[in-house]
Amino acid sequence: IPVLVWFRDDLRLADNPALCAALDSGAPVIPFYLLDDSTSDGHRPLGGATRWWLGRSLTSLAESIAQRGGRLVLRRGEALSAVPELAAETDAAALFANRLYGMDSLRDDDLFMVLRVAGLTVRLFDSGLLHRPEAVTTKTGRPFRVFTPFWKTLSATLDPGLPLAAPDSFPPVDDPPPASDSLADWSLEPTTPDWAGGLRDTWQPGEAGAQARLEAFFNGPVADYASGRDRPDKPLTSKLSPHLRFGEISPRQVWTAARHHPPGGGMDAFLRELGWREFCHHLLFQAPTMAEEPLKAEFLAFPWTEAKEIGPALAAWQSGETGYPIVDAGMRELWHTGWMHNRVRMIAASFLIKDLLIPWQHGERWFWDTLVDACPANNAAGWQWVAGCGADAAPFFRIFNPVTQGERFDPEGAYVRRWLPELADLPSSLIHRPWEAPPLILRQAGVTLGKTYPPPLIDHAHARVRALEALAVVNR
Ligand code: FAD
Repeated sequence: IPVLVWFRDDLRLADNPALCAALDSGAPVIPFYLLDDSTSDGHRPLGGATRWWLGRSLTSLAESIAQRGGRLVLRRGEALSAVPELAAETDAAALFANRLYGMDSLRDDDLFMVLRVAGLTVRLFDSGLLHRPEAVTTKTGRPFRVFTPFWKTLSATLDPGLPLAAPDSFPPVDDPPPASDSLADWSLEPTTPDWAGGLRDTWQPGEAGAQARLEAFFNGPVADYASGRDRPDKPLTSKLSPHLRFGEISPRQVWTAARHHPPGGGMDAFLRELGWREFCHHLLFQAPTMAEEPLKAEFLAFPWTEAKEIGPALAAWQSGETGYPIVDAGMRELWHTGWMHNRVRMIAASFLIKDLLIPWQHGERWFWDTLVDACPANNAAGWQWVAGCGADAAPFFRIFNPVTQGERFDPEGAYVRRWLPELADLPSSLIHRPWEAPPLILRQAGVTLGKTYPPPLIDHAHARVRALEALAVVNR
């Protein structure tokens, strides 16, 4: 009698406990992936960029499984009906899966109950995090709401064990294999317009691509990570985020590789960032609706710009036309590659929330659609952190100045020049504030404000005062 292995945010063969346990059971194994586009039970369908990634990643996973004698079954539908249907069709005795967090974990509770009632054994494993979110608590047994003590507690005791090896082969399945969709039918690749050219040039989705990223990072950039991780003009971060998002590499594999690397350089700073990923999932576990609702309820009273007035400013922000070069460069990097440097994510998010007073949920949704690493935990927590309504929040009154941030973290303007070629010939001293450039310099650089590049959408000094006045409403 066969058993099912449900691949979800764990699109890898190595260090996959659910897969290993299923193969160890000795039963024929049917691996499957389910594309669920429904919005029922709080499920959130993937955005455009993550759909593109998924298609590539599944191609890679299906090939790896085929090389080992197995076959990945692809199905589309609502989990609550499609999984029991597959189980009935294959007469499966058990379902093996790695745990999810957030709204899908609540849906899982119902689904697994249905399967158990139908006579299946359901076996769940932990593989997406270094720790079980419920296992780390304060001394009084409460969940942590602040990162530093959370990480201090977790890292002092953390022992995720060694990663599991990838299986050599899949045992043959006697019966004819269940029907499978073809990936092409899912239309995960855009056609017209084809906006994914930059994504194709930037990324290699799949397990091999994840390992290549890890090695490239540990063989060089990690040495300067601690001092350089805030510099968007330098390629010093790992860019592992989409690979971790889809589980093409496990945090335990990253952790173990780091522990086997000579200490020093930026390794501790890097592991601390992995700690942030753990923390965000810890928060999501406490508050599965974190993408919509502020963790600090008093922010429900925040006087945001009225919905009917948001449109043009939101569109300017989305298309990288705010007139603030560091914000616009970030939004163009995002559109082109599906990724944005962390420092610039913070600056761009702050601009939307605090300069434009647009509710952070609009930004969260745009990132959800455009980031290849869009993650229910990290994205929501990142937005809430910047908005100041999250658990471990940068207070709302700390407002990023897009000019001084640009000058500090992109001092030569190399990042802006790369993503805004229309400003490339401005001198470094003016590239983050083109509206202050004398007409002659603008002319020499070929810049006409309002024509080749927009003037600032809003005056930052004025916007700052307005944001602080708005905050006073919450504080009252
Ligand atoms: P590195 O610096 O190499 O870090 C290694 C890994 O640690 C990352 O791959 C990531 O998994 C984790 N990590 C790093 N920084 C953070 C952080 N601040 N919070 C949580 N985990 C972190 N990250 C996502 O993975 N998905 C998102 O959807 C996402 N949305 C964000 C939205 C906003 C508004 C902000 C401010 C941050 C967001 N982040 C998100 C966090 C962070 O920007 C990215 O994880 C990081 O830029 C990814 O690049 P990297 O892999 O080179 O990171």
